[in-house]
Amino acid sequence: RFRHAVSQEIERLAEVLTAETGKPIRQARAELDATLPRIDFFLEHATEALADEVVHTDASSGLEERISHEPLGVVGNISAWNYPWFVGTNVFVPALIAGNAVLYKPSEFATLTGAEIARLWTEAGVPEGVFQTLVGGGPLGRALVELGPDGLFFTGSFATGRAIAQAYGPHMGRLQLELGGKDPAYVAPDADVAVAAASLADGAFYNNGQSCCSVERIYVHETLHDTFVEAFVEQVDAMVMGDPTDGSTYLGPLTRSAQLAVLEAQVADATARGATLVRGGNALPGPGAWMQPTVFTGVDHSMALMRDESFGPLIGIQSTSGDEQAVELMDDTEFGLTAGVFPPSQERAEAILSRLDVGSAYWTCCDRVSPRLPWSGRRHSGVESTLSVSGITAFSRPKGWHLRAS
Ligand code: NAD
Repeated sequence: RFRHAVSQEIERLAEVLTAETGKPIRQARAELDATLPRIDFFLEHATEALADEVVHTDASSGLEERISHEPLGVVGNISAWNYPWFVGTNVFVPALIAGNAVLYKPSEFATLTGAEIARLWTEAGVPEGVFQTLVGGGPLGRALVELGPDGLFFTGSFATGRAIAQAYGPHMGRLQLELGGKDPAYVAPDADVAVAAASLADGAFYNNGQSCCSVERIYVHETLHDTFVEAFVEQVDAMVMGDPTDGSTYLGPLTRSAQLAVLEAQVADATARGATLVRGGNALPGPGAWMQPTVFTGVDHSMALMRDESFGPLIGIQSTSGDEQAVELMDDTEFGLTAGVFPPSQERAEAILSRLDVGSAYWTCCDRVSPRLPWSGRRHSGVESTLSVSGITAFSRPKGWHLRAS
């Protein structure tokens, strides 16, 4: 019933999301549309994933060994604003299906969407108190962690994730953290430049770069660096920036005005260290917080732009000498969420990707999430995973049954 209600209200829910976050309406609709197959995945697989499993029987001794899955109990869900439907659905849908109660704290930048989600669960018939929404910011999130729910599922920045891990540790419950990224991509010497440029420009600038798995660093083989930059910039120049409620808009304002200072500092640092500004570089007048889509070449890893999460419309493109150097550069990061490579050979792509310490590996694609695959970050990008079948059992505890008929 919850899924059905979402499907009936997509247009209105998209308008709420756009109004409070500045996400272009087309992208808000796309998020809601893609929420439905995520719910379907959980509905299709939950019964089997949570079913009892007899793993051993021995007729001579009358022994049966069985595994059952019990709910964690009360699950705390502290959520982010950039994809509130996606990151919320990853947690509260399987949590409820697995038999838990949920204390849901939407981001203070997506409170209205959080309130809509709560209303839809109530209307769908979830008993009072089983899905409880807590409205507030960081201090409320901290208080929720200190309550010590049986499971704590968090989506947000590394800094907050680390603070949560420290505060929640003594409660010894199930902890899952989806954190930030500095996701790289590599354009190999024999890549299809047009395909790579179109895919990576979208991966870098979709949702104004405010995605955990946005492409934030691009390494291009030196032989096609200039051709690639030209094709990439052509894509960027075609992006329509403006009123997010307009259906033709691709780039809206930033959701959090405080991020503007982070982006401006990265631009100043890259410029001071000798990077070449190819496009953008400036904040634009309000109302709202606006940043031009910004492209740098001639970058290196001494620059904050290539090390720290930008979480905005900034990209650095660095020239490389080949696969070996690309692997070194891609892995030279504290994060480990995703990486994408663009050689024509699948074998070569898999060889490169298998050497990278990331949770998701992309060949000729990027900035992509599938409900069928686990979504997990390594190093500063997170702990444990959501989605896939393991993202259902994550909300349960196994019990081992040792049953001997006397
Ligand atoms: P944030 O860390 O500022 O806030 C996230 C949530 O934590 C909010 O609900 C906030 O109120 C709460 N919070 C803040 N301080 C807290 C504290 N001390 N204790 C408990 N809760 C606290 O992050 P954000 O700005 O909302 O989101 C952007 C970040 O999220 C980026 O780093 C992005 O990469 C990451 N992100 C990751 C994924 C993923 O799947 N890996 C998905 C979306 C966003």
